[in-house]
Amino acid sequence: MKIRNCLNPSKPSFSFEFFPPKTDAGVASLLRTVEELAPLEPGFVSVTYGAGGSTRDRTVELVTHIKQHSGIEAMAHLTCVGHTRDELRDVLRRLDAAGIENVLLLRGDPPQGQTKFEPVPGGFTYAEELVRFVREEDFNFCIGGACYPEGHVETASREDDLKHLKAKVDAGMDFVVTQLFFDNAFYFDFVERARRMGINVPIVPGIMPITNYEQVQRFTRMCGATVPMRLALQMERVKDQPDAVVQLGVAHATVQCMELLARGVPGIHFYTLNKSPATRMIVGALKGRS
Ligand code: FAD
Repeated sequence: MKIRNCLNPSKPSFSFEFFPPKTDAGVASLLRTVEELAPLEPGFVSVTYGAGGSTRDRTVELVTHIKQHSGIEAMAHLTCVGHTRDELRDVLRRLDAAGIENVLLLRGDPPQGQTKFEPVPGGFTYAEELVRFVREEDFNFCIGGACYPEGHVETASREDDLKHLKAKVDAGMDFVVTQLFFDNAFYFDFVERARRMGINVPIVPGIMPITNYEQVQRFTRMCGATVPMRLALQMERVKDQPDAVVQLGVAHATVQCMELLARGVPGIHFYTLNKSPATRMIVGALKGRS
């Protein structure tokens, strides 16, 4: 199934994102998480692509395994980092041969210690080029990509970032998924500006329930997402009580999702960090409401 066909504001889908674990025990635990989340009937799940090394093969193996064994539609992420176009074609062929129909195409982050993204010789500098490549090579994938309601960390201005997003979508993207955000105002404003610029593909909000405050502070420093002052203060107050942090994180994400659904989003993508409880609580509450 092509994901673009399940992104529909009149029947929004829930989707779950995982990362490829480094160890076999991690893989076993992830597959249990997938099983625990399956009863929530996700529209699809996705597996991220590592910065390098053995987990990259695991992305291909995991999406194949999930699609074949659980029947859930599974999307592979793929980045330009460290790959020539021949290597990228090779990964795409393996995904295609395994029956994977959806890919999330990204540039990826500069390797640790570098501030500027440098392509390898024969590689790509921007996700837009990878999208164009996949379309020119005549693969039949449904293509997703990333977008940034608060602006990508490297961009000089949100306006430039949006222009680049428009070019990336025009190169052949079917939908985009946002970077995590904790304040819906950023999403609604972004969608409005994107529509004004002529970006008409579905824009799926990405939500990460806070389950560990230090971890979220680390992520938000890296990706530039704002934690609203009130939520930050509440988190500070309970940061030494793990259960209270989860309760607060789940409550905040649930309220975010309820407003997003009420205002007609085509789906909600959950950054699960390979754990099921928080996502189960939120989606369970949301499904109970309808
Ligand atoms: P691009 O769209 O190429 O943009 C990168 C930067 O370049 C932006 O600042 C943009 O404004 C600018 N730019 C784009 N085109 C041009 C141009 N023509 N001229 C000048 N500037 C330009 N990372 C991983 O390593 N693995 C993953 O699996 C992964 N999954 C992700 C999933 C989602 C939903 C999101 C939101 C992010 C994900 N990331 C992942 C992180 C992502 O790789 C980084 O945010 C990366 O820095 C940018 O990737 P991109 O595809 O958005 O890049």
